[in-house]
Amino acid sequence: MNVVCIGAGYVGSVTGTAFAAIGHQTTIIDIDPKKIEQLNGGKSPIYEPGMEQLLPALIGKNLFATTSFEAVAEAHVVFIAVGTPSKEDGTADLGYIKLAAQKIGRELSKDRFTVIVNKSTVPVGTTELVASLIEEASGFEADEHFTVVSNPEFLREGYALEDVFFPDRIVVGTSSPQGLQVMRELYHNLIERVGYDQLSERLPFLCDRQTPKAIYFETDPKSAELIKYAANAFLAVKISYINEMARLCEVLGGNVLAVAEGMGLDTRIGKKFLQVSSGWSGSCFPKDTAELLATSQKYGSEMMVVKAAVASNESMHMYVVEKVIRQLQSLNGKRIGILGLTFKPDTDDARKTQAAAIIQKLVELGASVSVHDPQGMAMFQSLNSHLPIVYCHEPLDTGTRADAVILLTHWQEYQELDWAAMHSLMRRPYVLDTRNFLDSARLKAIGFAYEGLGLATNSLTLAGDGVMGG
Ligand code: NAD
Repeated sequence: MNVVCIGAGYVGSVTGTAFAAIGHQTTIIDIDPKKIEQLNGGKSPIYEPGMEQLLPALIGKNLFATTSFEAVAEAHVVFIAVGTPSKEDGTADLGYIKLAAQKIGRELSKDRFTVIVNKSTVPVGTTELVASLIEEASGFEADEHFTVVSNPEFLREGYALEDVFFPDRIVVGTSSPQGLQVMRELYHNLIERVGYDQLSERLPFLCDRQTPKAIYFETDPKSAELIKYAANAFLAVKISYINEMARLCEVLGGNVLAVAEGMGLDTRIGKKFLQVSSGWSGSCFPKDTAELLATSQKYGSEMMVVKAAVASNESMHMYVVEKVIRQLQSLNGKRIGILGLTFKPDTDDARKTQAAAIIQKLVELGASVSVHDPQGMAMFQSLNSHLPIVYCHEPLDTGTRADAVILLTHWQEYQELDWAAMHSLMRRPYVLDTRNFLDSARLKAIGFAYEGLGLATNSLTLAGDGVMGG
């Protein structure tokens, strides 16, 4: 098929590359010329494992990147994968979507039926909105010359290619028979794994024969749009739940690792999304919960569970700061190192991460903060230029004369860090591991005062010389 993907971000660049990899003639379009230049140079505009292995062999052959919308005229399928950030009131800003729809409308060809597929996360009713904007711009009638289909994306950054090649489910929302037919044809190769053998040299995970085939789920557009919000908000609630459980464990003396494991053995609950953290964050959960909540309130059907999860999450970010205060008392003049600025490992996405909220509070309380992240520092700095913090190229530098090091993101390299060297650099060897990720026994053996979240062993006291034991 001839596929166009509008947006070269975390969703668009991966989707476009994957569809090209399984044989479709694909064009990625973005308004940002820098991203297009990177793609044309065989480089990924985002940090995502596997992309650099895949792109060079495709670009210029059956994958093209451009800022021009001309390719829309030749397309059977046009994906919209542009951003839908939050507005002040929490609702989704559809500015990029509207612009993309108008530009598509201006290029649509009379000679072929085009299926416009909305992959962006959008509020209920956006399928109709996009259709009417395209009608206005093109002069064509929806469902006669084109149709708009909802096809929400569920990929996880850091595993984006795996998720696109091995999705659990593909949700397609449309009432158009032509839309249904084209979407089934489009996804056929992905569901049947056609061409995976040839690709597995570059992406070894494609050899995986165990993963069950994707479930192809067809529904109406409104339900499809809601499924994405419903799923993300549910996962956010699940994380907030285990995070609150971690806090209760600290009060009552339980161990949240055991509690989560025991809960997760119940197949109705499952073990996923029961990992404790300083709270959920990133470019999706905060904006998607905000949109769902704002819309539910606007329509008089407030989602109280989501409201509580949002409030709980904000307090979880601050709970990290409270724990540091409990150990160091006044933070005035204290030096604090932060490991991890992205919302999860294996991504450079530092939008709306918990690190920003936590660092902001530490700075307000008078601490000097040094930070490190393997991939996310550039984006974090550009989004948080107001924060007076030191960016360290080496993770160990965050520990220089530090009174505390806080691990926020569980990048593998932090586990492999020379923690003995970190110990000798720090003024007080206190480590707060908000992901319960580090080898606590090893750190304690080195001499660290180690704290996780929700662990029964969290009982640290200040020793006489100001260095903590625990
Ligand atoms: P992103 O900001 O990384 O990428 C969006 C891209 O669209 C940018 O490169 C931007 O320049 C481009 N763009 C904006 N307007 C355009 C236009 N009119 N024409 C062409 N290009 C345009 O965003 P993202 O993270 O890829 O997310 C895209 C959508 O997918 C959002 O709605 C998001 O909620 C959803 N989503 C994201 C993820 C994720 O993990 N990032 C997962 C599932 C769904």
